[in-house]
Amino acid sequence: MLQDQEVHAAEMERTFIAIKPDGVQRGLISEIVSRFERKGYKLVAIKLVVPSKQFAEKHYHDLKERPFFNGLCDFLSSGPVLAMVWEGEGVIKYGRKLIGATDPSKSEPGTIRGDLAVVVGRNIIHGSDGPETAKDEIALWFQPKELVSYTSNEEKWIYGVN
Ligand code: UDP
Ligand code: MG
Repeated sequence: MLQDQEVHAAEMERTFIAIKPDGVQRGLISEIVSRFERKGYKLVAIKLVVPSKQFAEKHYHDLKERPFFNGLCDFLSSGPVLAMVWEGEGVIKYGRKLIGATDPSKSEPGTIRGDLAVVVGRNIIHGSDGPETAKDEIALWFQPKELVSYTSNEEKWIYGVN
């Protein structure tokens, strides 16, 4: 039989979060990482990469018919992106809440985009929008061996599980 902690670990959800080149250049890495950390989510992968245009097109393939697609992919591939995987209960949906609405002029204050960005074309951060995209985006950006499974000492205080 599985122990409480193993059951808990098996239920843990993962999402792909990326700080786009504008967020990196503006020195917002620590600010953004700390919001996910302080919430109680666990960082399981992180790397700084400059994606190629072709890679950016893969990442945003769902948007290829949109008029901003080309500019968006040019931008994503224009400099370093901080790619991350965060783990936690409900992290996909709540991570999007922490990020805020796509257009920062409509994002609530208190959200990352609401507090730190002004226009939709420079909204500093990406987050997976559902379980399927999270799975696909994690697989696109990371090799399985780059995902680190570990128990954080804080988990029993965050989840109340022994
Ligand atoms: N975007 C844009 N113009 C728009 C809509 C979106 O430049 O009118 C960009 C914006 O950077 C956004 C990205 O395209 O973050 C992906 O769009 P999506 O609708 O998936 O928004 P997100 O999931 O990032 O909130
Ligand atoms: Mg999206």
